[in-house]
Amino acid sequence: MQVIILGSGGPLPDPDRAGPATLVRTAVGDLLVDCGRGVLMRAAAAGSGVGAFRAVLLTHLHSDHICDLNDVFTMRWVLSFAPSPLTVYGPPGTSELLRNTVAMLEPDIGWRIAHHDDLNWRPEAAVTEVERGTVFEDASVRVTAAPTDHAPVRPTVGYRIEDGGRSVVVAGDTVPCAGLDELCRDADVLVHTVVRRDIVEALGVPRLNDILDYHSDIQGAAQTAQRNGVRTLVLTHLVPAPGPGTEHEWIDQARAHFEGEVVLASDLSVVDLGG
Ligand SMILES: [Zn+2]
Repeated sequence: MQVIILGSGGPLPDPDRAGPATLVRTAVGDLLVDCGRGVLMRAAAAGSGVGAFRAVLLTHLHSDHICDLNDVFTMRWVLSFAPSPLTVYGPPGTSELLRNTVAMLEPDIGWRIAHHDDLNWRPEAAVTEVERGTVFEDASVRVTAAPTDHAPVRPTVGYRIEDGGRSVVVAGDTVPCAGLDELCRDADVLVHTVVRRDIVEALGVPRLNDILDYHSDIQGAAQTAQRNGVRTLVLTHLVPAPGPGTEHEWIDQARAHFEGEVVLASDLSVVDLGG
């Protein structure tokens, strides 16, 4: 199993960091967690793509985590040679999101079907809404979900992906909470979105300050990892993006609360779990 951070940035456009998205390569195919800005460009760079996606897992429906879902949905369709519904799991609201995505794309769908003789089916998604428990099991792979806390965004979920005795948790956006603890117990890897509380507070911009009450700071993410015996903590969705030469500050803040390995993600950072 391999974890590839496709996008390590937050909501703000950044020349070097795509929006939130994580690829987990498993024995049954690639699992794409969230679809932030530029997801398919980064998937291409990682040697993956829509044909390799076993499923898309959405942690929540905030725009920065789903803004390229329509690209994934459309490319899955136009690059297929037979009907190949996109499998999507996400919190309640995901079915409506996909219906709205289809509605938005309706003119495009009509034009492409009219133009290509060999494309005579519509794009489809197989959507399952999840809140807690088993998401799916397939051969050696098991995916489970639990509720996270990103209020007022509700509901939100994190995912634990297990394959051949290895485990990866992708938290999405959340503050420390019982659901995340449940997912993280003894996990090999925790991919956690974080914000730098010290920098955000010093900037004193009210709209930026608002993000502190529903995102983990580095300390909170590190404490979650430590409390649950996680082996590797991957910091991603970095807000604000680390300035050149400040990367060690992020890692030091995590190490102050966590004894395991800390990875400060860049786009296309890889954590290899073997197998
Ligand atoms: Zn969010």
